[in-house]
Amino acid sequence: MTDTVDRVTRSRIMAAVHTKDTSVEMLVRRAVHKAGFRYRIHRRDLPGTPDLVFARQKLAVFVHGCFWHAHGCKRSRPPSSNCTYWLRKMGENQERDQRKIDQLHAIGWRAVVIWECEINAGIARLLDELAILGNQRTCKIESDGQVNNRSHLGARQA
Ligand SMILES: [Zn+2]
Repeated sequence: MTDTVDRVTRSRIMAAVHTKDTSVEMLVRRAVHKAGFRYRIHRRDLPGTPDLVFARQKLAVFVHGCFWHAHGCKRSRPPSSNCTYWLRKMGENQERDQRKIDQLHAIGWRAVVIWECEINAGIARLLDELAILGNQRTCKIESDGQVNNRSHLGARQA
C-alpha cells in the first residue's frame, strides 16, 4: 500500500502526532496532582529530561507517545511511505530512551515509563509506586498505631 499523502504532508502529520504527547502528559500530571503528589517537570539536569520528577522519591517519569518511542503496539506502526526511514528513526529513539533510563539507574534513580495507549494503567501503576515509596499523604497512622498504606497497594491479603 502506498501512502496517500506527500512527504511534506506526512511530516506535518507526524509532527502533530508528536504534540499529542503533551496532552497525554497533562492527563498524567492532573491525576498525580489530584492524588496529592507534588512533582517538578522537565528537569534538564537529569538524564533524558524526565516529564515528571519526584525528587524525594528519586523517581523519574517519562510519558511516551507510542509512535515516537516505538512502543510496538498498533499505534506505533510506521507509515508505509519512507518506512525504512521511520523504522530507523524509531529504533534510534528507542535506544536513546533506554540509555537515559540506564543513566538514571546509575545515579540511583528509578524510572517509570507511561505509554500513551496504556495511560490509565500507567497512571495507576505510578500512583502505586509513589505510595510504596512512601508519601505522607497516603500513609495514615491508624488508631492502633499501625502504619496503613494498604489502600494504594490494592487487594493485599490481610
Ligand atoms: Zn502503545
